[in-house]
Amino acid sequence: MPRDGALAPTCPPPNCYDAEPIPEAARAEIERLLASGDLFRYTSENAPVSQLEAEFAAFMGTRYAVAVASCSAALFLSLKALDLPRGARVLVPAFTFAAVPSAIVHADCVPVLVEVGENFRVDLDDFRAKFDDSIAAVLISHMRGHTSDMDAIMELADAKGVPVIEDAAHSLGTVWDGKKIGTIGKIGCFSFQSYKLVNAGEGGVLVTDDPELAARAIIMSGAYEHNWKKHPGLQNSFVHWQNQLPLYNTRMQNLSAAVIRPQLAEVPRRVRDGLANHDYVAAKLNESPWLDVPPALGPETRAPDSLQFNLKGDWTDAEALRLQDEARARGVGVQVFGLSKDNARAFWNWQFLGELPELPKTRAMLMRACDTRLPARLTRPELDFIADAIVEAAAAVKG
Ligand SMILES: *Cc1c(COP(=O)(O)O)cnc(C)c1O
Repeated sequence: MPRDGALAPTCPPPNCYDAEPIPEAARAEIERLLASGDLFRYTSENAPVSQLEAEFAAFMGTRYAVAVASCSAALFLSLKALDLPRGARVLVPAFTFAAVPSAIVHADCVPVLVEVGENFRVDLDDFRAKFDDSIAAVLISHMRGHTSDMDAIMELADAKGVPVIEDAAHSLGTVWDGKKIGTIGKIGCFSFQSYKLVNAGEGGVLVTDDPELAARAIIMSGAYEHNWKKHPGLQNSFVHWQNQLPLYNTRMQNLSAAVIRPQLAEVPRRVRDGLANHDYVAAKLNESPWLDVPPALGPETRAPDSLQFNLKGDWTDAEALRLQDEARARGVGVQVFGLSKDNARAFWNWQFLGELPELPKTRAMLMRACDTRLPARLTRPELDFIADAIVEAAAAVKG
């Protein structure tokens, strides 16, 4: 409900949940695949999954891309490809999605959670403090597309000779100092799950320039027997690894690739519009004395499809919960990460890890950080609707 004196909304609340339609070009290819039944990536030469891998590698400017079932599978295979010993300790930001520490556990490694600051990025003091000689790998999750300081992280990791994996699930199109996110560490992992920039329902891909890592990941993804021959440019590496590695069978199938391939051409438009939308709404929120959208880091050009903001000043939990209600009453979904029950992005809910560390900075951030969807397809009036609803909701609680 609008506050007294405010105009009643003249348009219905924008739908922030529906995806964009899949490009028309996917239909003919899907028809062809359905008619032939050729769905397995290794049946025919030059199958859609192989074509996607070639196109995605070209898009990212990497030597190799390996398409798999999900970003979580890509993260798991990345850790396995690094050949880390059982029980290896892996640094990972404590602000991420539960599937990320889960991939570390799945790879028989131990996640070491690092504090994340109010700006949603890795707290470098805690990162340095926890980066002792027991750390075998670093997995940087660019949560919600917020890029941590990759210069500082790479400098430290390189000095110690420790490999970095980038969880770029939500960072397709993000650029750091002229470099594409996902190409800065040894391996980058992306998601094609429906809430990411490219939507195939499910799917993932890893990129790397390292032929040994690529070959190992390909075999373990399920390139059994001599199916590796359908991946170009790796023959020497494959011969070495044949029959030496387990097959985890987490391949992508051709229908997914048929849905993804025509969307790659849409990425620049989605990135451009997503960033413009985000910055437009962020500027309006930052005019409120009660709201704060942290700025991007200097070297970072973001590719957001959602908006995160902090509740500024003193807010009680009850007030933060009321903000959610007030925004919902105005037609906009806002979630305080730490205040929605069982949120998979709140580290204290990752009870599968056993004893959880105290992470006061990350906890404080999660208790006041808000999440709202902001798809690239929204129009200016829809963005105004969302921004006004959130600003009015904050004023209704605090005004
Ligand atoms: C969505 C997401 C994942 C998981 O991706 P899936 O493809 O669903 O496995 C991992 N990390 C981040 C930051 C994500 O946003």
